[in-house]
Amino acid sequence: MGLFEKKQCELCGGKAGLLTRYKIQGGGYICGDCKSKMSPNVEGIGDLSVEEVKDLIAYKEENDRRFNEDFNMTRVIMIDDRHRIMGVSEGTGEFAILTDNKPDIFRFDQILSYNVDLSTSPLSEEEKKKTQGWAGLLDYLLSDDFGSKYPGLPRCPKDCKITDMHFEIYLGDNDFHAEKMRIDLIPGWSSTESEIDRAYSCAYEMVNCINDQKNKLANMSGGNGGGYDGSTGGGQTAADNTNPIEQVKQLKELLDMGALTQEEFDAKKKELLGL
Ligand SMILES: [Zn+2]
Repeated sequence: MGLFEKKQCELCGGKAGLLTRYKIQGGGYICGDCKSKMSPNVEGIGDLSVEEVKDLIAYKEENDRRFNEDFNMTRVIMIDDRHRIMGVSEGTGEFAILTDNKPDIFRFDQILSYNVDLSTSPLSEEEKKKTQGWAGLLDYLLSDDFGSKYPGLPRCPKDCKITDMHFEIYLGDNDFHAEKMRIDLIPGWSSTESEIDRAYSCAYEMVNCINDQKNKLANMSGGNGGGYDGSTGGGQTAADNTNPIEQVKQLKELLDMGALTQEEFDAKKKELLGL
């Protein structure tokens, strides 16, 4: 009983072991195998019903088929030959993060905002003394040359070293039930001058690519109304977009409470998100 009680996966009926199971809506569980069939970016599993898990698995299967068969990557943003980060289908305004084992395909206008998250730590007294190894790197990171090369990106404070850099993408409504992606731009354990430079270069390319593609989608949907559906205006700032999303979240609560039917919810959601 209690902690070691055997549970069954509500989806496949298999064993949902203590360490590999995930609680879903209503207090039941799904097993690790079933969970891994959804997007690796899925969030809020505890709020999902069995039916929603089924839908998410079906959507992910269709996505993986599309990615393998007809996702036309016309551009790849990479750190180096071994680390491809973002694949872009410029024709359809879509992208996939290639560091995921099975990448999810998103549209650029589903990006609400992004952030370059830089982790730094102060140099110890010892490190300050023996800067032989990376005195050049520290000077370089603080130089105007470096700053003007990557305008808008966060900089390393003085007397600190860069330990990590992540690119975070915040997503609006999408069929993967994903809210956020966090991409490691310094994949090695050490951060040398060239690694940090490549990470900055990659982040900078992603920022420009996202802005270009969002603008392109916004212009297309604003221009002749044709082209892409689902654009709520890629040119808007993240703050402008929070309102309809919040409203949809509230509606979702009403749906879960049974105050709205699925049809009413779907109609209202489409209206709010301009789908
Ligand atoms: Zn299962």
